[in-house]
Amino acid sequence: MNYIEHSDNPAWDTYLRQIDKVAPYLDGLRKYLDTLKRPKRALIVDIPVVMDDGSIRHFEGYRVQHNLSRGPGKGGVRYHPDVCLKEVMALSAWMTIKTAVLNLPFGGAKGGIRVDPRSLSATELERLTRRYTSEISIIIGPQSDIPAPDVGTNAQIMAWMMDTYSVTSGSTVTGVVTGKPVNLGGSLGRVKATGRGVFVTGKACAQRIGLEIEGAVVAVQGFGNVGSEAALLFQNAGAKVTAIQDHSATLYNEAGIDIEALMAWQQQTGAIVGFTGADIISEDQFWNVNADIFVPAALEGQITAAVAEQLTCRLVLEGANGPTLPEADDILQARGITVVPDVICNAGGVTVSYFEWVQDIASFFWSEEDINARLDKILTHAMTDIWHKAASEECSLRTAAYILACERILIARKDRGIYPG
Ligand code: NAD
Repeated sequence: MNYIEHSDNPAWDTYLRQIDKVAPYLDGLRKYLDTLKRPKRALIVDIPVVMDDGSIRHFEGYRVQHNLSRGPGKGGVRYHPDVCLKEVMALSAWMTIKTAVLNLPFGGAKGGIRVDPRSLSATELERLTRRYTSEISIIIGPQSDIPAPDVGTNAQIMAWMMDTYSVTSGSTVTGVVTGKPVNLGGSLGRVKATGRGVFVTGKACAQRIGLEIEGAVVAVQGFGNVGSEAALLFQNAGAKVTAIQDHSATLYNEAGIDIEALMAWQQQTGAIVGFTGADIISEDQFWNVNADIFVPAALEGQITAAVAEQLTCRLVLEGANGPTLPEADDILQARGITVVPDVICNAGGVTVSYFEWVQDIASFFWSEEDINARLDKILTHAMTDIWHKAASEECSLRTAAYILACERILIARKDRGIYPG
């Protein structure tokens, strides 16, 4: 059993340190802050799966609801071999902060299974997903907790989750998950929304620090859903993406990597290794390349203190959740490198997930143009609020975002009161 003792993952500790930094700014709300230092509810499930060869394997799954003060839980499901309870706790907590920063009517939740999805056949993956959904169905639902895709999961997995939940409910419940295929109540624009948000918030901050996107040099870690779309939008806006790293390789081309060609290669082969339009450099060299903008869009804990000392960029856009360790955050701030924190930078996905949930409830669907316009407006507005808060409190953008979010969550806590009083 792994559970909480599998604790070398730094994510929960990172989150707690971020919360502690906000305490001095919360005045009368500070007495409620402990509510954010523990999850409201955490479910650990055993998932037995009959494998294609007839053997039975057991997987460990989780669903954590960190805070539900402002509405139903919202957050993705991660399939990755390093998933553990502490990681899911941190990811759920960051969802609480993220939904509050954007003022979406949700709390924060997250789920995951400790599994390498690439090692399973499609039928094994379906059986794993359906049994996991069945096990967590006691706490998820369109009014209580709404999963979505994250690392290692996708629209097909959401379709299986929706179907499993619906079969046991006796009716089709499209609003139980978001990130579904469009023909099953999914939203246009959802797949690209997180990468789009990285670009939109990055562009807004670049303008404020006087950095032109056209001609800027960009390095991207992670070439999945988030990293590839962000890279494409930067390229389309005239930036040059010179370095890209995924689990298989680190690519470099001083003249700029052709993002569309790399996307086609990755679609065909499942990874960036073997692409001929760039050279391969070592994993460690990635953080040393000359770039104006770094976009960590893979996993958490990637920007360590040592990496923060080396970076030569002006802007870090946190496409991933929790990519910067707290000590690295301090170093980046001291070195004058602006960090657009995950809770706003990658919030495009949850915002369009919110649109999807609203559309499912109303059974009335919007055009992609409408969705992108509303998305850009919400993100730009939130980014402006954070920028002004950071200026007035003389703090980092992350602390400013946390102040705004914590105020909203803790006012909800205060107004609802503690039951039974
Ligand atoms: P994904 O599974 O589509 O892609 C993950 C990418 O990271 C892949 O290219 C993979 O090769 C790469 N990667 C994995 N391990 C790596 C390593 N050790 N070094 C370098 N690269 C590595 O996942 P995604 O949906 O793009 O999510 C990426 C990050 O963005 C995660 O932190 C996730 O929580 C966050 N995020 C995703 C969404 C979303 O809508 N998908 C929303 C908000 C935040």
